[in-house]
Amino acid sequence: MKDVFLKPGKERSLLRRHPWIFSGAVGRAEAADDGETVRILSSRGEFLALGCRSNSSAIALRVWSFDENETIDGSFFKRRIDAAYALRQRIFNGALPEAFRLVYAESDGLPGVIADIYAGLAVIQLSTAGADRFREEIAKALLPYAPRGVYERSDVDGRKRENLPPVTGGLRGEELPEKIDFNENGLRFQCDFRQGHKTGFYLDQRLNRAVVAAETPANAEVLNCFCYTGGFGLAALRGGAKTVVNVDSSEQALAQAKVHAKLNGFSEEQFKTECADVFQYLRSCRDAGKSFDMIVLDPPKFADTVARREKAARGYKDLNLLAMKLLRPGGKLFTFSCSGAMDDDLFGKVIAAAALDAKADFRIVQKLMQGPDHPASAAFPEGHYLKGIYGIKC
Ligand code: SAH
Repeated sequence: MKDVFLKPGKERSLLRRHPWIFSGAVGRAEAADDGETVRILSSRGEFLALGCRSNSSAIALRVWSFDENETIDGSFFKRRIDAAYALRQRIFNGALPEAFRLVYAESDGLPGVIADIYAGLAVIQLSTAGADRFREEIAKALLPYAPRGVYERSDVDGRKRENLPPVTGGLRGEELPEKIDFNENGLRFQCDFRQGHKTGFYLDQRLNRAVVAAETPANAEVLNCFCYTGGFGLAALRGGAKTVVNVDSSEQALAQAKVHAKLNGFSEEQFKTECADVFQYLRSCRDAGKSFDMIVLDPPKFADTVARREKAARGYKDLNLLAMKLLRPGGKLFTFSCSGAMDDDLFGKVIAAAALDAKADFRIVQKLMQGPDHPASAAFPEGHYLKGIYGIKC
């Protein structure tokens, strides 16, 4: 195995069990191929970890194991995936939901590996050169938890940074269906695992959708912005809303949202859709004097780097300001940010600034985060990417 020495002092993050080494921290190193497993050593030659090398990414090394005696092979992936499953069993006290995240990358000790389960089908994303080398081993290790098969959706942007082409297709299982039906919080959905966003569905919001269902005022008029396939909108109807307007700029997402409404027995009167840019739609509601009892804002990532944080913060502020103005007194706002670069503190400040400009007395009732099947390692704060605030305009 090749040795990679770090520059003096650069072992600190690994000693705290953070699994990344940036390229600037790499000292003397034997040339290794992309994805190759290497030994990571301090400048003095002490063993630190086994990791995978990336020659093109800013993150040059990602740790597979801090144990010098471990071999990174099929049985390593089996051990890690079995442990990830055992953790989910504990989290849900044995009552696993039909759809859940089984492997959450770094936080499950498997950088670059995501595996979501939808009613017995595993949908995986391999985003690093290291993970890409072990596709077969990973698929094999997932099979006990994915009796219907394993489908790969490695078409994520991050692969470009690793010089990897997009890869999609079935890895295990015969004649995989076009879409897969599953139940979430008592509602029926279809996961478009071949074409949908991420692995086909935003599983990270499952628990927050349950909160929305529980908090929906009876007969509420609800606005669900960035609705994708309608998850929050259906949750609100299930919670007793009168009507929900679901806004998204994607026709394809809205078409699937309508199918979901029908599957769950809601009419077009109850579940309305608008194909529009949310910012423009909110302004048009303001100009038309419309108002709502509850608004959900679940935008896509506005910033994935700290450099773009300022601009993203302005985007979040405008969005929340517009929404707060449309809320009736006593109206509820569920607002989210999935930008890793926006930390809790900054998100709170943005919401405070929006309330100030909207001249709203906005009370924070509950802070929200990604669901419990996405448990972030304490050593890896980057794993806490989803932040939400539930508040009421008094
Ligand atoms: N709330 C959804 C997930 C939202 S993902 C759920 O629970 O499943 C973000 C969505 O925002 C995507 O569907 C994308 O099509 C949409 N989107 C992105 N930019 C937009 C814009 N400016 N206006 C409207 N929709 C937008």
